[in-house]
Amino acid sequence: MLIATLKKSHGVKAFLIWLGLICAVDAQADYRYRVSTGSDLKKLTVELCFEGQAPEKLVAESLDASVALIGAWHESGERINLSGFIPTGSVPVGACIHYQVDISRGVQRHDMTGPKVYRSIGATAVSNGLWFWRPEVIPKSRRVFVEFKLPADYSLSTSWNLTETDGVLEVPATPFDWPSWIVLGRFFKKEVIANGTQFDISILDGSPTPDAEALASWIDKEVAHVQSAIGEIPFSNVQVFIFPNARARQPVPIAYVTRGGNPTLHLMINQRRKMQEFLDDWTVTHELSHLFLPFISPDDAWLYEGLASYYQYVVRSREGLLSSEKAWSNLIYGFHRGTREAEARGLTLLEATQKMYQGEPFMQVYWGGAAMMLIADVQLRKRSNGAWSLDRVIREFNLCCMDRTRAWTALEVLSSFDELCGYSLFVPLMDRYANTNEFPDLANTFQLLGMVVEQADVTLLDDADQQSLRNKIMLRPSL
Ligand SMILES: [Zn+2]
Repeated sequence: MLIATLKKSHGVKAFLIWLGLICAVDAQADYRYRVSTGSDLKKLTVELCFEGQAPEKLVAESLDASVALIGAWHESGERINLSGFIPTGSVPVGACIHYQVDISRGVQRHDMTGPKVYRSIGATAVSNGLWFWRPEVIPKSRRVFVEFKLPADYSLSTSWNLTETDGVLEVPATPFDWPSWIVLGRFFKKEVIANGTQFDISILDGSPTPDAEALASWIDKEVAHVQSAIGEIPFSNVQVFIFPNARARQPVPIAYVTRGGNPTLHLMINQRRKMQEFLDDWTVTHELSHLFLPFISPDDAWLYEGLASYYQYVVRSREGLLSSEKAWSNLIYGFHRGTREAEARGLTLLEATQKMYQGEPFMQVYWGGAAMMLIADVQLRKRSNGAWSLDRVIREFNLCCMDRTRAWTALEVLSSFDELCGYSLFVPLMDRYANTNEFPDLANTFQLLGMVVEQADVTLLDDADQQSLRNKIMLRPSL
């Protein structure tokens, strides 16, 4: 009996050790991509190896990824039948698959969220959503590595993290449907480090050739302004992709931030405009201001667009790039346009936010959100006797609470704001104005700031207290 019991317990122990080994192996079961392309940058060939159990299927973020997918194959060469995704459930442990993606043109068949390929002289930018087939959810125990094999003297820019192994990148744990891009080929690259954040600037060639050094120095200046006016940007690495040849009167007609991996600023520029026009433009100030908030659901875009629209003038005024009078008058003009648009359309702020993504007007969304930021900033400063401000709430939020790997709602962000400053301020503002057609009421705020506002015109009063409150918002504390 004794022997039998011992044997049994050994058996259990052996089973547990075996189970432990399985778990240990699983814990290191990485996914490894090897990506290659020819010098014409027309096709990506991908080898994907699963060190442990393969996931059930691979998905890609763009609806057009299936159109761009040329095919997928097992190691044996047998073709994998595709059905809107790449089924991988039957792939043996430790095996690899191959697939190829056409990146020669920006397919736009099902996905209407903009082109997914940008080609310029010598380089191509591709949305990862078009070619990066990956598990829907990457378990915490698994890591994803991507290695690129590019033609000699070709460069790569990505929003993924560098690893200690040269040429191998690790995909950070942001959700698969957060867009991100890569740039491949010959193009200008420069690193700028500011307050602990590394900005990787990539500038593609165009016709005429853009002045890359001057553009990089412009980005460098913008970063310095935003960091000095608001605080440290809460990301260690930010990509800046500059695409020339935009046809417009403005220097930067299109700009946006993507959040897959590390954040990336996308700037479509008209390189024919004079450098001074770039220096005078607020677009990059606005885009950089977005980085002080985490990824927020697009249903609540009024919050992040409002915050960036507020800061685009506040930052430039604090940095002396705009007079404070002009900054106030620009804000008032924005509120005026937002009010008029809200009156004309009769939509609630949330409805207007939804319709903005169908290409409809956005002044109510941007400036309604900005008006709430101004109301909150003034209330905070008044109630706390200057101890609190919107700047401080944002800085403290980024220090304590900002989770960069998931989407937030406006309610979650604003509840955190209220908790941090100890006032019930931001959430009541949202409750009051998000679900109504009424543009935020600024009368009391204008009065506290000593401003008489008639339509789009503003007169600033001389009262010392009011002037001091205005200056606390629009001037640097040291000035
Ligand atoms: Zn924006």
